[in-house]
Amino acid sequence: MARSDPRDDVLVLAHAFSRPEVQDFADVVGDSLELVLAACASDCPFLVVAGVHFLAETIAILVPDRVVVHPEPLAQCAMAARLTVAGIEKARARYPGVPIVTLVNSPAAAKAVSDICCTSANAISVVESLGVSRILFAPDRNLAAYIATQTGVEVIPVPALGCCPMHQALSPDDISNLLALHPRAELMVHPATAPAVQALAGFIGSVPALIRRVHMTDATTAIVGTDTAVLSRMRRLAPHQILVPASHLMSCPDMRMTTLPSVRDALRTREPVVRVDPSIATKARRAIERMLAVTGWNLASGPEFDSAGEKVVGKMPA
Ligand code: SF4
Repeated sequence: MARSDPRDDVLVLAHAFSRPEVQDFADVVGDSLELVLAACASDCPFLVVAGVHFLAETIAILVPDRVVVHPEPLAQCAMAARLTVAGIEKARARYPGVPIVTLVNSPAAAKAVSDICCTSANAISVVESLGVSRILFAPDRNLAAYIATQTGVEVIPVPALGCCPMHQALSPDDISNLLALHPRAELMVHPATAPAVQALAGFIGSVPALIRRVHMTDATTAIVGTDTAVLSRMRRLAPHQILVPASHLMSCPDMRMTTLPSVRDALRTREPVVRVDPSIATKARRAIERMLAVTGWNLASGPEFDSAGEKVVGKMPA
């Protein structure tokens, strides 16, 4: 039977670093964790993922009964691309018995040889849930340093110099210049920025935490140190705030590869479909499920509900 509307049976998920027009078109906009949870909660047979490959791959691993379409298969994450299975195995051999926590911003094969996954939004809870004094952490050294300061756990980055180039490029000089122009502004940055930048910040948090902070801060001006695409969402949610990007260069080129025409093409053709080797997917799924369990999500029984009876999906994680 012909579909009456190309969107009838599709959920369009857009990462918060996507182009603003793609975000406007999407059914759900969020960070990696929010999109993964929204995909799991949906019963749509087709999921179109506007973002980078690791995100579409993670969703395909979690919902193997659905068709996951990634409109721009060349949109890869520069940080994830540097993480190899050989690098993880070498670190494991050097630190036997030390668990490895891997960001979802990683290839499926790397997840498959990891103990547990995390996102920027739940990294602290995931690490604390392990109850250990030392972990290996891949592939972002800046987030590793942030986790160490927040948990007291020794965090060994794998690879030693892995980082998100977009967040890493923000410099303390960029910040000092802006703070001179906006002396009363609150500087809020993502934990993937360099430690020297984090040291200047009044608030450090994941994308959902930054968005929530914009609502809560007493400052009337906020300097925001993450992808500039988040600012358009923040402006809609907090129109009273003066929002200043920490750098106009903070724009992930891979996240911007997905355009509105490519999403529309994907809706029409239902291609290209993301496929993950089943033997890798099974092992990677275990590491992702462990993360979701910390977040209060059991894939077998579905989402947990909070005290207000509200489904966890759509809420901003701490
Ligand atoms: S923002 Fe950084 S971590 Fe995210 S996809 Fe782009 S390069 Fe990768």
